[in-house]
Amino acid sequence: AKAQGKNTFAIYQEQMSQHVSARLQMEKHLRNALSNNEMYLCYQPKMEITTGKIIGVEALLRWRNPELGLVPPNVFIPIAEETRIILPISHWVVDQTVKQLKSWRNTPFQDLSIAINISSSQFSAEGFITNLATKMQEADVPNRLLEIELTESTVMTNADTNIKLLRELRKLGFELAVDDFGTGYSSLSYLKRFPLSILKIDKSFIDGLPMDEEDISISEAILHLAHNLNVRVVAEGVETLKQLNFLEERQCEYIQGFVISKPLKSDDLEVWLTEHAEN
Ligand code: C2E
Ligand code: CA
Ligand code: CA
Ligand code: CA
Repeated sequence: AKAQGKNTFAIYQEQMSQHVSARLQMEKHLRNALSNNEMYLCYQPKMEITTGKIIGVEALLRWRNPELGLVPPNVFIPIAEETRIILPISHWVVDQTVKQLKSWRNTPFQDLSIAINISSSQFSAEGFITNLATKMQEADVPNRLLEIELTESTVMTNADTNIKLLRELRKLGFELAVDDFGTGYSSLSYLKRFPLSILKIDKSFIDGLPMDEEDISISEAILHLAHNLNVRVVAEGVETLKQLNFLEERQCEYIQGFVISKPLKSDDLEVWLTEHAEN
């Protein structure tokens, strides 16, 4: 038994070191990802339910590395955050988004907004707001076309400091959305003080609609709360028409999900939007 125990530990150690080296490999690749042009954005359309119009898109980051293949953001973003590589990456995301908005000026897509995901280290970084506002101004794009998505946990950590930053962003005309709503701890009394425009109901509550009793209660409660606070609601991860109908009946304003479209590269998005507008 003793020999076996030792053996198990040896295997465990070996697996640990494999794990660590895989992680270090990924970190190394991640540091070079931008300069090697391995990152790009996909855009997922967001539809207004009552009109069927696409009113905006969410920018979602993609990383394709020659050795690692396509690495999901849920894997590389936490590593980028821990290592602070997220900061140059986030700047790049903002730059790309502003460029995209600028290229849509004086085209049929000029009223489309783009939502970007902001990590908590980016949000609390010195100069975040100034940088954003300067870039938008230089590109001559109205701030209302940029929507800032912050997760519930980013907003609720250091809530008092964050309220000031959020008010500043709102004053500049940026739209503010709380992402993954319902998954963190939200203090409802704080919610009232936040100058939000949009709540995004997390996919995990949409999945069980229209059957699961708990998901029904939670999504109805979020819609009710949001509407009382004059905040519009996006349901994310909507995959079926049954889910869509459920949300429409409860006056959810917008949906995003595979039932409308997957995230698309910008060329494909423009083709898709043109076809969607004709139908
Ligand atoms: P998120 O912000 O909650 O984004 C929604 C995720 O759900 C996206 O995954 C999207 O592709 C996926 N999705 C949308 N509709 C459906 C659907 O109908 N069914 C299913 N199964 N999935 C759907 P993705 O692109 O893998 O992104 C994962 C997360 O990575 C995002 O979650 C966001 O938290 C983070 N992320 C993505 N891009 C960025 C970025 O530029 N910066 C930062 N900080 N985080 C990002
Ligand atoms: Ca998001
Ligand atoms: Ca989300
Ligand atoms: Ca989510």
